[in-house]
Amino acid sequence: MSTTRPWHCLTATEALEQLQSSETGLSGAEAAARLSRDGPNELPRADGVSPWQILAEQFKNLLIVILLIAVALSALLGEVLESIVIAVIVLFAIGLGFLQEYRAERAMEALRRMAAPQAKVLRDGREQLLPARELVPGDVILLGAGDRVPADARLLEAVNLRANEAALTGESVPVSKDSAALDAPELGLGDRINLVYSGTDIGYGRGRGLVVATGLGTEFGRVTGLLAGVAQQRTPLQQNLDKVGRVLAIAAGSVVVLIAGLGVLRGEPLLEMVIFGVALAVAVVPEALPAVVTISLAIGVQRMVKRHALVRRLPTVETLGSTSVICSDKTGTLTRDEMTLRALWADGAMATLSGSGYAPEGALTLPEASPSEQQAQRGLIERLLRAAALCSDAHLEREDGGWRLYGDPTEGALVVAAAKIGLDKAALEREAPRRDEIPFSAERKRMTTLHRAETDPQMVAYAKGAAEVILASCDRLQTADGIRALDAAAREQIEQAARALAQQALRVLAVAYKPEVKGKDDAEHDLIFLGLAGMIDPPRAEAKAAIADCARAGIRPIMITGDHPETARAIAAELGILKDGRVVVGRELDAMSQAALEAAIEDIDVYARVSPEHKLRVVTAWQTRARVCAMTGDGVNDAPALKKADIGVAMGRTGTDVSREAADMTLTDDNFASIVGAVEEGRGIFSNIKKYLMYLLSSNIGEIGLIAVATLAGLPLPLSAVQILYVNLATDGLPALALAFDPPEKDLMQRPPRDPRTGIFTRPVIFLMLVGGVWSTIVNVSLFVHQLNGSAALGLDAEQALARAMTMTFVSLVLIEFFKAYNFRSDRDSVLQRPFANKWLNLAIAWELTLLLAIVYVPPLSTAFGTYAIGPQDWLLVLLGAVSIVPVLELAKWLIRRTASTQRTLVAG
Ligand code: ATP
Repeated sequence: MSTTRPWHCLTATEALEQLQSSETGLSGAEAAARLSRDGPNELPRADGVSPWQILAEQFKNLLIVILLIAVALSALLGEVLESIVIAVIVLFAIGLGFLQEYRAERAMEALRRMAAPQAKVLRDGREQLLPARELVPGDVILLGAGDRVPADARLLEAVNLRANEAALTGESVPVSKDSAALDAPELGLGDRINLVYSGTDIGYGRGRGLVVATGLGTEFGRVTGLLAGVAQQRTPLQQNLDKVGRVLAIAAGSVVVLIAGLGVLRGEPLLEMVIFGVALAVAVVPEALPAVVTISLAIGVQRMVKRHALVRRLPTVETLGSTSVICSDKTGTLTRDEMTLRALWADGAMATLSGSGYAPEGALTLPEASPSEQQAQRGLIERLLRAAALCSDAHLEREDGGWRLYGDPTEGALVVAAAKIGLDKAALEREAPRRDEIPFSAERKRMTTLHRAETDPQMVAYAKGAAEVILASCDRLQTADGIRALDAAAREQIEQAARALAQQALRVLAVAYKPEVKGKDDAEHDLIFLGLAGMIDPPRAEAKAAIADCARAGIRPIMITGDHPETARAIAAELGILKDGRVVVGRELDAMSQAALEAAIEDIDVYARVSPEHKLRVVTAWQTRARVCAMTGDGVNDAPALKKADIGVAMGRTGTDVSREAADMTLTDDNFASIVGAVEEGRGIFSNIKKYLMYLLSSNIGEIGLIAVATLAGLPLPLSAVQILYVNLATDGLPALALAFDPPEKDLMQRPPRDPRTGIFTRPVIFLMLVGGVWSTIVNVSLFVHQLNGSAALGLDAEQALARAMTMTFVSLVLIEFFKAYNFRSDRDSVLQRPFANKWLNLAIAWELTLLLAIVYVPPLSTAFGTYAIGPQDWLLVLLGAVSIVPVLELAKWLIRRTASTQRTLVAG
């Protein structure tokens, strides 16, 4: 290094020289070389979990440890085969637990990677969007309002640039930035105003910076050293299940102690009873539940990714399922955001422009008039488009034989329109370079740029924005015959023209200018009105279909837009959002108290000309009605509303980093339909969790019921420890997992949203679980008693008779649980509706059945499990008993359906 002067003391040129870079950035090859030399621009993660940690976690389960110790003891005492089998089963269970949690962790990791930030970089002289981790010192990055600064950078250019540095310095007021060199080497971080720091964000303006430090070399890296992880909150459901799990564990534990105690009192060997007791405890405590729930949520998250919705936190998946209101931006989310300029109004004449896409090919059609009048009109329109193009940041590039737009599509439409009549933005800018600007914001709804040619002593201001906003700051009008005062009649005429354009669903922008301005202070009043531009932004076909889905699914779609109320109305009506509700504009909202808004909220379908802070009020109003509200947003100032909403939805393509960080979910295609898709997935996941919850808990009730009743009745134990462990593995394992993959029920999106206040344990769920568990107990106890008594008649000795009765009970219990797996695929619909639709479940059951047969008939498995080779008649009996669970559960579901429909009629009446 030639100098030790800190970066803020160097001029931009010196800084570029020191890093051997240039204004146009590095070449791709040089950047790659630096990346391998300096390492990626990222901080080590704080919350990464290694596979070993996950494995170690599995052994933290006290029950498993006790069981393994007891088994080792029993092996020492001679029960070698049984001990090995128990150990193998336990290891299987551990393996399963590990796999489940490992998968869940991997899914979370994939999520984190996808949520990784991106940066706009100049490479090979071209603007590119790259993952921020690929940045190297020497890169030139572009920064705009709402961007998260991806690395420490020395500013090369700063236009009204302000950064929020609270994350780094604690300073809550945004810091104004500048690119000039500073001469005090000792300045604190917050005072080095020509540097921007990684981890802070841009609140306003735009700039260009030279990356001087990446990864751990950044100030942020030095302070924190580690990257805070994506928050790993437990979802309400997980918390609820934790609680249920604890209650069940205590209840099951007491029963187990009772059973084992009674056994010992009756003279059973102590160690055997300990093993049996612990095995029973392992079987009935649903310790796999949290992991399976996490997997379900994580699988759901992956499925949502395929449907273009990126969820940052697991609780979101759950909340999605009960979403009942979706407030959506219009531009880009409900519409395609492919703006094409169609109509131009200047001095009372409406012209049209043809062409589509961003190719600058199209023709201007002027209204009928004399050639000289048309000539004058053309002149006016050229003036208008020249001003509009100069007052835009978008630019067109020829790429791969087509045209690509960089920047905002609204501005793109203007730049393309200018090009269609032969005005090249780059050439215009060379003639009149931009000297200053007041950027666009959703609150201001306008933008102004100031230009001055080298030879000109005076600056000119060009302005564009919402028609009424621009019109309000104009006092003169440009006509073919020169400039004249803007009187009330002319204003009325312009407003009418703007309304007429808006009613055709066109987005309207007004354009104005002001010669001889001194600076920004006098650039936004006393302007000269140039004209109006109307552009079309077609609705997305998918959005229309998704809105129809919403209606069936009891979800209320709401449009919230900064656009003109007439444009909003036309598009909302076309999409089916606006039916008999109202269109309210921002000004009316300002005049309304929050209480008045709450009272009116149900009647409002469309909000137009709103600013981001209005969104917060709308979300709050819906929430006071106990509605679960999703809200989209893309700008910096949308962050509070996104945070407040139950589901904050950010835009992956056009949104700012700040909005993405405030959001719960990001749409990778910015499409409304993806929100509805995510809601559907959310509902599906919740319903699948419900399915295996019913299945697992009902099976456990059946198991403990059987053992408890037998013990209390003074019967021998109907199952051995190995058998009980196997039943647990066979049910908790693959079939439960398969239920997590169950295809969504057909009418998932034809039901009203779930009330978020009712948890997963609704009355029907508890009822079905109990009915299934109790019936299983009745069948198995009867079978066991019947066989114990009946076996003597077959001439078997006592031990054989017991083995036979136990085997039949064992098989019956397993079969009942398989039937339950199919039955619990719905808590309302008959099992006969698409019974075999879940191919994973079919495979799981086929595999478990094969294993079951092997356990009953194939030595040494049959020896290890102490089974008796039962005959065909025995099978028939067992099957008859097991199948009886089907009509019983059908009856229960019928009762549930009937109660639900009488309740509905009562409510309706
Ligand atoms: P949404 O529906 O997503 O809220 P919107 O594009 O309708 O989006 P804003 O982006 O807030 O809302 O724009 C509000 C208004 O500001 C637009 O109707 C338009 O009149 C004006 N406008 C939009 N973009 C620009 C721009 N780049 N420069 C000047 N004015 C703009």
